[in-house]
Amino acid sequence: MNAVPSRVRHFASDNYAGICPEAWEALAEANHGHVSSYGDDEWTTRAADQLRDLFETRCEVFFTFNGTAANSLSLASMCQSYHSILCHETAHVETDECGAPEFFSNGTKVLLLPGENGKIDPTGIERAVKKRSDIHYPKPHAVSLTQATELGTVYSVDEIRSVWAQCKKHGLRLHMDGARFANAVASLGVTPKEITWQAGVDALCFGGTKNGMPVGEAVVFFNLELAREFDYRCKQAGQLASKMRFLAAPWVGMLRDGAWLKRATHANDMAALLENELRALPELRILFPRQANAVFVQLTAGKADKLRATGWKFYTFIGQGGCRFMCAWDTQPADVHALVADLRALP
Ligand SMILES: *Cc1c(COP(=O)(O)O)cnc(C)c1O
Repeated sequence: MNAVPSRVRHFASDNYAGICPEAWEALAEANHGHVSSYGDDEWTTRAADQLRDLFETRCEVFFTFNGTAANSLSLASMCQSYHSILCHETAHVETDECGAPEFFSNGTKVLLLPGENGKIDPTGIERAVKKRSDIHYPKPHAVSLTQATELGTVYSVDEIRSVWAQCKKHGLRLHMDGARFANAVASLGVTPKEITWQAGVDALCFGGTKNGMPVGEAVVFFNLELAREFDYRCKQAGQLASKMRFLAAPWVGMLRDGAWLKRATHANDMAALLENELRALPELRILFPRQANAVFVQLTAGKADKLRATGWKFYTFIGQGGCRFMCAWDTQPADVHALVADLRALP
């Protein structure tokens, strides 16, 4: 049997990539001497201040190890156990968090909404709220949006504002799963405030890992009331890092010279290149508008397996089927060309 070539980089996920230089350098800078633990240190203060500068507002910032915790704990801060959270049917909080949002909120039920291209249709919010108003139904109390979405699309400013209008009308909190928030900002060419607190977002989970950090997400509360005792939630959930400086330092590295946006822009550009090249191939279909760093493709039967056999890794279980090709901060044009060449050469 022919050996499967070993690839340096893949299109499976942006969390397959390593640590980008800006995050790595800041980690090395932070690795000097003894400093106070549990977030009582200069790096953590600086990272939180830089996030406040980035969002141009007062906000409360907490650092967690991963996105599941950031989402679950921030959603728990918005809901009582008898409430419900409305999200899109392909949302990570529903499909990829093993019930953690329900667990950490002591039973708050996640209710699913439909919508094209991985985005909530705002009219679905009203339908879910008005469906029942009796005591036997888990009362909707929060909406969770994913930006960029699980299908590689991006909510526009107006689309977020339409969701917010429904939230205001029905007294719902607005949560944003921003595991790929940087890719969304890069795609829209907006300032971070325009798609968060200025569009009604109460809390954002800002993803660091997929942006190029080793580990870590920032929970940013624009609604300060929700941040009350959030430190206790983090600690109880096992999310308070004792050597917090190493969760915080990569944020300093990514934020101080704009690397967070530069790296995300590059990943988006690589996906745009891939989309372009794929459109020239016959017998495949691009599934959703390509707006961030992922391209979803429907290949003809058997081709996905054949492509895998040439050594490439990519996912086929995300969203609504098809092959997902995800670009990362370090994806190179040569990787894109190599993937497309192998696809073109398939029997
Ligand atoms: C990756 C991802 C997360 C975070 O996942 P963890 O593995 O818990 O860090 C959250 N939401 C979305 C949409 C993601 O893609």
